[in-house]
Amino acid sequence: MEDHEGPECGKPDFVLLDQVTMEDFMRNLQLRFEKGLIYTYIGEVLVSVNPYKQLPLYGPEAIARYQGRELYERPPHLYAVANAAYRAMKRRSRDTCIVISGESGAGKTEASKHIMQYIAAVTNPSQRAEVERVKDVLLKSTCVLEAFGNARTNRNHNSSRFGKYMDINFDFKGDPVGGHIHSYLLEKSRVLKQHVGERNFHAFYQLLRGSEDQELQRLHLERNPALYNFTRQGAGLSSGAHGALESDESSHQAVTEAMRVIGFRREEVETVHRVLAAILHLGNIEFVETEDNGLQKGGLAVAEEALVDHVAELTTTPRDLVLRSLLARTVASGGRDLIEKGHTVAEASYARDACAKAVYQRLFEWVVDRINGIMEARDRDPRRDGKDTVIGVLDIYGFEVFPVNSFEQFCINYCNEKLQQLFIQLILKQEQEEYEREGIAWQSVEYFNNATIVELVERPHRGILAVLDEACSTAGTITDRIFLQTLDTHHRHHPHYSSRQLCPTDKTMEFGRDFRIKHYAGDVTYSVDGFIDKNRDFLFQDFKRLLYNSSDPTLRAMWPDGQQDITEVTKRPLTAGTIFKNSMVALVENLASKEPFYVRCIKPNEDKVPGRLDENHCRHQVSYLGLLENVRVRRAGFASRQPYPRFLLRYKMTCEYTWPNHLLGSDKAAVSALLEQHGLQGDVAFGHNKLFIRSPRTLVTLEQSRAQL
Ligand code: ATP
Ligand code: MG
Repeated sequence: MEDHEGPECGKPDFVLLDQVTMEDFMRNLQLRFEKGLIYTYIGEVLVSVNPYKQLPLYGPEAIARYQGRELYERPPHLYAVANAAYRAMKRRSRDTCIVISGESGAGKTEASKHIMQYIAAVTNPSQRAEVERVKDVLLKSTCVLEAFGNARTNRNHNSSRFGKYMDINFDFKGDPVGGHIHSYLLEKSRVLKQHVGERNFHAFYQLLRGSEDQELQRLHLERNPALYNFTRQGAGLSSGAHGALESDESSHQAVTEAMRVIGFRREEVETVHRVLAAILHLGNIEFVETEDNGLQKGGLAVAEEALVDHVAELTTTPRDLVLRSLLARTVASGGRDLIEKGHTVAEASYARDACAKAVYQRLFEWVVDRINGIMEARDRDPRRDGKDTVIGVLDIYGFEVFPVNSFEQFCINYCNEKLQQLFIQLILKQEQEEYEREGIAWQSVEYFNNATIVELVERPHRGILAVLDEACSTAGTITDRIFLQTLDTHHRHHPHYSSRQLCPTDKTMEFGRDFRIKHYAGDVTYSVDGFIDKNRDFLFQDFKRLLYNSSDPTLRAMWPDGQQDITEVTKRPLTAGTIFKNSMVALVENLASKEPFYVRCIKPNEDKVPGRLDENHCRHQVSYLGLLENVRVRRAGFASRQPYPRFLLRYKMTCEYTWPNHLLGSDKAAVSALLEQHGLQGDVAFGHNKLFIRSPRTLVTLEQSRAQL
């Protein structure tokens, strides 16, 4: 890797383009991509294009080249961003965060791994054992989380089906001493069914293909995923991670090993495997109508009783209770009287599916919590009063549009609206405001503020989520259709909302079924089918109690709410939508309190082809990621800004008038003299308190003269 790129490599920073048009932007992106230069800056924002092939850009030597350097001293790279975030954290004790965004397959998760590797490589020179332990857990936990939270999809063979925010805590020496992972909205409906060409979560196939024969026998499983309803659809597909069928097998060993090494107990790993097996058996349970099932006359029975035995054994719960929970529900009939009400076939199938999804979700959350427990900062330095500094890394699902979009896409796209709003606030608005505050001449840049879309979704009482919650709290009778009518009434005049009823000529929507949101990234039509059900996310208390009463302490710990008696379960649990909204609000607040660094990932083509950049596909992403506006603001626009004292501290040794101290009346005057001596005064503007530097080259020149001393 060359340390400085030649002119044939295009501009390393879009800010340096002659003109900021989509054409110029795309040409530069393309030119660099063809040369294997997948990274380009917009100021401090890193734009990354997925090369879909291994490039010699990573590893210890590359890391060493970026370590301790300024952002502009080396060609654009993730390591430079990781380094900048790390240095801001260490030098100024500022909490920082790196927000990675982009659509599915754009390379977010890979980017987050490179960032973690960089941080692990440059910290803990003194090899403290506890820090080594934390680093090891940070790195190894990724493969465990991917096993349970990733799946092969049509867009990405190793797609993260959950959002992930990871905090790394650093002590005063700048070494990682702990960490914490937040996970967001696991796509649990995938447990039940997958689109053609897609698979269930990797963990199921890994268990089936990678377990030893004896282990499979103990779990009452056969090796073939085609034998289970939940894994049949994806049975013939290879795992995403390494591209070969055998790799499920080797991944199973690797994940199990990683769990043990980072500190999961042997019994815990066994429970995890048993729970996965129980879910597979549960998925094969079918119901039939019968004369007498022992519970009631004219009721329901399980077609294959052996499956109930397996579920009971694997979850260490009493067999008859498993059967009862599958066939009937307990309801409180006035006062404290409890009666058992038999399910119909449809109800029982629904309850079984709800149970399978919930068991998987709880398993996933338990794995995350367990990793958090293991990563918790243990030996905080008492001198720092427990206050660590933090770098947060956010790897969260990008904007999604499918032929049919449901509640999950609605949540994911809402999340992207929130993050875009934060981006606007932090990068665009903040910059403009700063120029105004500092009295720097400023041409205002037009950008679309998506606050109104966020409001449409989350506003109390009338927002889409509030209307949905209202529909869910009304017993039974409200249908998805009525929910849609209520939305229409509330939002008929909203510029970002429409439906067929409001727009009868628009045949791309179906009457009574679809509504459309004009997102900042494009229009998305959502089908309301299942919105209420998915938001309510209901599971009969019978299942919760059943699993809470397991004699396996690990499984029991996943179901604390099973402790409640049905008569106590009066308070309505929060809906899935509200839980998600609350977690997004908290996430955005958290990110806003940190110094942000952005990585904007671009997927070059839909077909995962190495080295091909499909112009239309990329244009769309460039436009909805707001990259052109970003360049315009930045150009309007200065590459760097620094308070005068900080600037002097770093560069005063390069000028005779300022070394060791200046006598020029003000720091501003001293900075001016210094720049004049270097002949750089044409490239800067002087704010009230800060120096604004237009081009990155100026910084490089200053850094070089500093290094030559
Ligand atoms: P999702 O939202 O579906 O989780 P993602 O943005 O996290 O998608 P990744 O899983 O990071 O996407 O990347 C998809 C695939 O692209 C990877 O499995 C890898 O094959 C390839 N890829 C991504 N980044 C790089 C890179 N820097 N170098 C080589 N290949 C890459
Ligand atoms: Mg991912």
